[in-house]
Amino acid sequence: MTAPLIDPFARAITYLRVSVTDRCDFRCVYCMSENMTFLPKKELLTLEELDRMCSTFVKLGVRKLRITGGEPLVRREIMTFFRAMSRHLDSGALDELTVTTNGSQLEKYAEDLVACGVRRINVSMDTLDEAKFAEVTRWGRLPQVMRGLDAAQAAGLRVKINAVALKGFNEDELFSMTEWCASRHMDLTWIEVMPMGDIGNENRLGQYWSLKDMRKTLAERYTVTDLDERTGGPARYVRLEETGQKIGFITPLTHNFCESCNRVRLTCTGELYMCLGQEDMADLRKPLRDFPDSETALEEAIRAAISLKPKGHDFDYSRQSLDGQMPRHMSHTGG
Ligand code: SAM
Ligand code: SF4
Repeated sequence: MTAPLIDPFARAITYLRVSVTDRCDFRCVYCMSENMTFLPKKELLTLEELDRMCSTFVKLGVRKLRITGGEPLVRREIMTFFRAMSRHLDSGALDELTVTTNGSQLEKYAEDLVACGVRRINVSMDTLDEAKFAEVTRWGRLPQVMRGLDAAQAAGLRVKINAVALKGFNEDELFSMTEWCASRHMDLTWIEVMPMGDIGNENRLGQYWSLKDMRKTLAERYTVTDLDERTGGPARYVRLEETGQKIGFITPLTHNFCESCNRVRLTCTGELYMCLGQEDMADLRKPLRDFPDSETALEEAIRAAISLKPKGHDFDYSRQSLDGQMPRHMSHTGG
């Protein structure tokens, strides 16, 4: 029996988020600059390497895989990788295979995802207004994403919407987004904007909308019940009794939920980040490429990396400075 991955703070690592590409067909203002330089293709793990990497994590006890990016569904032949991972669902080694996407390619891939055992997906969407959508994503177009959502739901996927909370941008859409999601039977999670990467001229401090008052605002219109549900991540959930919906708040800046963290993040180049908010990482591509016929070195490198997982992150907006700001982009680690 293989020993599970347990970090120095006795947290079992059962959840791997995998970025399969740094590229994207959108340029969201809080995520990327308009002129991004992407990695040379040879730096990226091939689909076969991603399979070896993820399969090794599954062997070491990871039960949930979330595929992200960049935009995961713009990677060429990405369904080959999803198909490969579905064998771990079939064997019972993996509980869940899921994806976080901007929705632009769902019209094309929704049915394939279902065929690969994907049951739930997260779709990122910050506004229901076409002009504002074009503004915040720069290159994205809302009708395309709406067609993707239709296709996803028609294929039987459960959809959760993720919205980044942006001050002065979508604060006024709190109720309209909630009602629209309710009408489509979708849960909704709001994410506090995090200080990630150089994103050009956008004023990040101006974008920060703390979610600490959102529960109170929702309670003005709905009966709000706190849910005990813990996902091991920085999300907390409430239920709106009138709509039956779950509303999530991801507040890594307002609160520190690191003590229950069960996850690590693999980048598309094979770097393992043990914490979203810390620079420490381990290069897993080298042991993977140096030993193409054996996973022993890779397994040892993964265990060594997990033994260095830090207790928590150091983000802090409170002093109106960017203490703890991370130089890498969210599209690098996949959010
Ligand atoms: N392209 C896919 C998407 O947008 O869903 C997957 C990758 S994206 C980096 C993953 C999530 O990170 C998205 O929900 C996005 O809104 C969020 N995100 C990106 N930059 C962020 C930031 N600076 N602060 C908070 N969330 C961010
Ligand atoms: Fe692309 Fe997602 Fe980043 Fe937007 S948030 S630019 S869709 S990777």
